Amino acid sequence: MGVTTDKRLCDNCPGRELQLCVAACPGNLIDIDPQLLRAFCRDQRACRLCLACVKACPRGALTPVLPVECAPVTVEVRIETVGGGLRWTLRPDAEDELILTTEAAGDDA
Ligand code: SF4
Ligand code: SF4
Repeated sequence: MGVTTDKRLCDNCPGRELQLCVAACPGNLIDIDPQLLRAFCRDQRACRLCLACVKACPRGALTPVLPVECAPVTVEVRIETVGGGLRWTLRPDAEDELILTTEAAGDDA
């Protein structure tokens, strides 16, 4: 469980005193790598996968990747921001893939 950063997409929220993902995380789990100037989740085990950081990032740089036990197989779930919504990609095995797209739950902006 946790959140990964696409370092090619994260731009460190230029012009902001506090990065949007850092401000969004209720667990204060997002830090900025001082060398790379990119966001990262510093404690993947503590991440509750609330998706607040994922939804806050305007560049879609954050992706939660979670193993979901779905008997009898393990399904890999990847969630990405696409436009105003989320794209859920479920991979029950190496060959199958199911993609679901959801609209944004609300407009907090
Ligand atoms: S991950 Fe997104 S919200 Fe966080 S610093 Fe990078 S661009 Fe900003
Ligand atoms: S998914 Fe939620 S708990 Fe996890 S790092 Fe992002 S904001 Fe924090």
